[in-house]
Amino acid sequence: MRLDFYLSHVTELARKAAKIAASKGRVTVNGDVVKKANYTVKEGDQICLDDTLLAWPSEGYYLLNKPAGYVCANHDPDHPTVLDLVPPHLGQELNIVGRLDKDTTGLLLLTTDGQWLHRITSPRNACAKRYKMLLADPISDNALKQLEAGVMLHGEDQPTLPAVAERISECDIYLTIQEGKYHQVKRMLAAVGNKVEELHRDQIGDLSLDEDLAIGEFRELTDVEVAYF
Ligand code: URA
Repeated sequence: MRLDFYLSHVTELARKAAKIAASKGRVTVNGDVVKKANYTVKEGDQICLDDTLLAWPSEGYYLLNKPAGYVCANHDPDHPTVLDLVPPHLGQELNIVGRLDKDTTGLLLLTTDGQWLHRITSPRNACAKRYKMLLADPISDNALKQLEAGVMLHGEDQPTLPAVAERISECDIYLTIQEGKYHQVKRMLAAVGNKVEELHRDQIGDLSLDEDLAIGEFRELTDVEVAYF
């Protein structure tokens, strides 16, 4: 992590003030004065500001209610990214846990913890994700059974893993999948001759999107929620 990011995270200093503090020689790393704001500090380094030893920041875990129109990327030349929805000092440190399409809304996780991210996204862990969707056409019970049993996606050589499909109404369903292939839900519905018009994720594993979290808002996960994964 860059020294100025680190200082702005663990002290009262904003990024600019952190840069100035370093340039004035107020910061040491492992006993040496470091004046460059872009110097990389790592966990285990002894970092002092004015001779006071600073702690390494704890990991961050957040849940965001993603609006449509935002892409899941660190930078995008044409569209706002989900990281634009969190304060810049946080956005610079967070990784996006998996991907939702630009037009998909709902539960998105953000974290600084790479191992936690990996536990959620690794295919080996088969973490369940539930999507609610509006379909272009009414869906038959037979198509729901096909989605549950596994369908062949265009360009793949293995059928999708078992899923859970629940009818809400003629054109609205929940689908819970344990994989995360590119455009998986839209491709699964295309495989049974339908089309997803609106897609919203409301659960990942045991974690549900809060009903009162406004679109575009985020909150920190509790320790109990972090321990789900
Ligand atoms: N499947 C899709 O097709 N799109 C998403 O955004 C998520 C899952």
